[in-house]
Amino acid sequence: MIIVKQLFANLAILVALLFLYTQIKKDPPLRMNSSIKKKLTTGVAGGLFSNILMQYSIPIGTIIIDLRHIPIILLAYFGGAVPALIGMVLVIAGRFLIGINISSYASSLLMIAITLFAIIIARTRLSQQRKKWCMLTFANLLTTVLFLNLIEDQQLLFYLIPGFWIVSFLSGYVAFQVLHILFKSQMMFDKYKAESTIDPLTGLNNVRKFDEVFNSSMENLDKKKLSLLYIDIDFFKKINDTYGHSEGDVVLKDLGLILRSCSRPTDIVSRNGGEEFTVLLVDCSLNQAQKIAERIRSTVEQHAFVLNSGKEVNITVSVGVSNFPETTTNGNLIIKDADKALYEAKKTGRNKVCIANQ
Ligand code: GH3
Ligand code: MG
Ligand code: MG
Repeated sequence: MIIVKQLFANLAILVALLFLYTQIKKDPPLRMNSSIKKKLTTGVAGGLFSNILMQYSIPIGTIIIDLRHIPIILLAYFGGAVPALIGMVLVIAGRFLIGINISSYASSLLMIAITLFAIIIARTRLSQQRKKWCMLTFANLLTTVLFLNLIEDQQLLFYLIPGFWIVSFLSGYVAFQVLHILFKSQMMFDKYKAESTIDPLTGLNNVRKFDEVFNSSMENLDKKKLSLLYIDIDFFKKINDTYGHSEGDVVLKDLGLILRSCSRPTDIVSRNGGEEFTVLLVDCSLNQAQKIAERIRSTVEQHAFVLNSGKEVNITVSVGVSNFPETTTNGNLIIKDADKALYEAKKTGRNKVCIANQ
């Protein structure tokens, strides 16, 4: 009974390690097509986990019993040969550090067999569930053979073998489940994080992301040039009123593509709300910004926006431009000035670019 209790403690340590590792390493989970660097680091981590588990093993004569095979199986299942082999080498090295005797040689051979079998199973076309059970069953079978050869106490074997099978299966199941849950929540977190900064209609940055980038551009502004284009579609309400809201959405989407194609890859193009867009140009003079604004204006004017109905419509945009330090030396006024310049463009005829404070 004490052995089963100890193995449960081993399981608790394993779960804690898996949890800590996935929380610290916030990058995507290990996969068969992960980078070699990712496979190497995860292989090392898995090998270390197995070594930690060995430190909490149950000694019976010269053999020590623990769940060191589980991290190796996890590595083979999720990442294939490279991480599993690295983990295996570390486990074997760790086992010899504990002691060099017949048991350490036998358990090293056992670990090699478990690892190679798991690598082969991971490559087969078996269902994910079958792969897991096959890997665990094979590990349990081989470990049983090892017990039968190295332990002579029949009464001990009578309890040890079923106890080991139960805890090994349970631990494998729990470890796989814990990892699936952790990976899933990590992926959901990443997805929602990305979505929280992206405008779903156009795929551009949303206003929250714009604010974030703008605020960070404000740091050490004295050493930079910063331009802002504030863009608003002219008489957009008419498009909606004439063709319907969903056709208006098609125009907004298409305009997003034009804004992207007219600006530099490093520029921050955002939909700040409704039919208002901004392009934040870092390290860009007023002259350059004015040229980009004019390019956007004329491209939009000449572009035929194809609606869902197949009908082609034309629109125009008005653009307000501000620049630090050429139109204002107060960073806090960059947005306000661009907005004012946009208002000026609207007031003085639309389909034009106006520069702030001129
Ligand atoms: P102006 O030249 O003065 O800018 O005229 P305008 O009609 O473009 O300006 P106004 O602010 O009166 O109207 C903006 C319109 O944009 C009204 C609203 O229906 C439309 N709009 C805002 N958000 C969306 C959206 O997500 N989809 C669609 N299709 N229309 C939107
Ligand atoms: Mg408008
Ligand atoms: Mg508007």
